[in-house]
Amino acid sequence: MRSRHTAATSPPHRTTATRSTAALALISLSLALPALPSRAFAADSAAAPASARWNVTQAPFKLFGNSYYVGTHGLSSVLIASDKGHVLIDGALPESAPKIAANIRALGFRVEDVKLILNSHVHFDHAGGIAELQKMSGAKVMASERAAPSLKSGHAAPEDPQFQTLGPIPPISDVSVFKDGETLHVGPLAITAHLTPGHTPGGTTWTWDSCEKERCLHMVYADSLSTASSPGFKFSNNTTNPNILKDFESSFAKVSALPCDVLVSVHPELSNLWERLEARDVAHDPNGLIDGHACAKYVTSLRESMAKRVAEERAE
Ligand SMILES: [Zn+2]
Repeated sequence: MRSRHTAATSPPHRTTATRSTAALALISLSLALPALPSRAFAADSAAAPASARWNVTQAPFKLFGNSYYVGTHGLSSVLIASDKGHVLIDGALPESAPKIAANIRALGFRVEDVKLILNSHVHFDHAGGIAELQKMSGAKVMASERAAPSLKSGHAAPEDPQFQTLGPIPPISDVSVFKDGETLHVGPLAITAHLTPGHTPGGTTWTWDSCEKERCLHMVYADSLSTASSPGFKFSNNTTNPNILKDFESSFAKVSALPCDVLVSVHPELSNLWERLEARDVAHDPNGLIDGHACAKYVTSLRESMAKRVAEERAE
């Protein structure tokens, strides 16, 4: 049905042979790119529009066990693979969809074996590519109750802090709904939804376990919890969405309390993914990607940003 490259299935850096294979893979991948991904990101960040920067090609890589990063350099997308079909979380930008599909194939998997596509939140940079990926794969698309109408219409919800400035995304006609805390299954895979409203009303953070031999890790795909908003939007005393600060606080509390070994945030740099990857694949620390405090750290900085933003609003 499908084949995989040896490097993709080997536990990382258990032996010298594996390590040199991974090092060679890293070198050949970086040669295939216009520049090393982190440099490419820094070099064009001043000139290029955000979506072009976000869409810089990123070679796919194993996170742990059956979990793989298949996104672009600036926007995360994660494939959770099984012999009975795969789950894909997020589709990045509309123009990212072919890159995500190519990354899935580069790992030796078939796009047609993606059976379920999930989303963090319905913004163009995380849900924009889902419609095309759904067409390519035939996968079922599922969303939270408050996210599903936006995925179906392609338009942000009125309670969205960025409602006034967001453009439409390619809509998806058939979207099923899950509930908070529900665990979704594809073959042996079990992925749990944690509603994390605030940045959008229907935002969702995802957790699952991935194993290598006897060792299983808690994987987390964390939704945005940033203060991004349209000009003039106020988080405090908001009449359109009076619960928005409570929503943020409950989402902060929920994400920081998750069992969390390997964190991928929707914008990878917000959870230091590239530094952690370098620790694993360049500095050869087999646990380089793992940080049991990653979710709590992720929330700490976002909570501080929100407190600062609210203080500024109240001082106006
Ligand atoms: Zn967003």
